[in-house]
Amino acid sequence: MHEMSIAIGIVNIATDEAKKANVENFAAIDLEIGTLAGIEYDSLDFVWEAAIKDSVLEKAIKNIHKIQAKAKCVDCENEFPIKFIHDSCPKCGSFLKIILQGKELRVKSLETF
Ligand SMILES: [Zn+2]
Repeated sequence: MHEMSIAIGIVNIATDEAKKANVENFAAIDLEIGTLAGIEYDSLDFVWEAAIKDSVLEKAIKNIHKIQAKAKCVDCENEFPIKFIHDSCPKCGSFLKIILQGKELRVKSLETF
């Protein structure tokens, strides 16, 4: 499953940070995931427990900050929320747009005990 490799990638980032900070465990992890990042939030939850087992995140509370995707129309400069990458501008119908946000997938913060 795609989300499993994402979860393992997050665990690897946390493991590196734990070494740098010289801690054994984290109390919490904050993730920022855009709605266009290609991640199923439910699937990530589903694989999470297995991914963090025996890792520095085993006791960590996971907080996911969902970032609603937004785009700016190239033709009329209207800013609008998008659900799918191919959505057109609701104001003028143009398909030309710049994605402003929504593709994020990052570890925002890690908290120690
Ligand atoms: Zn437009």
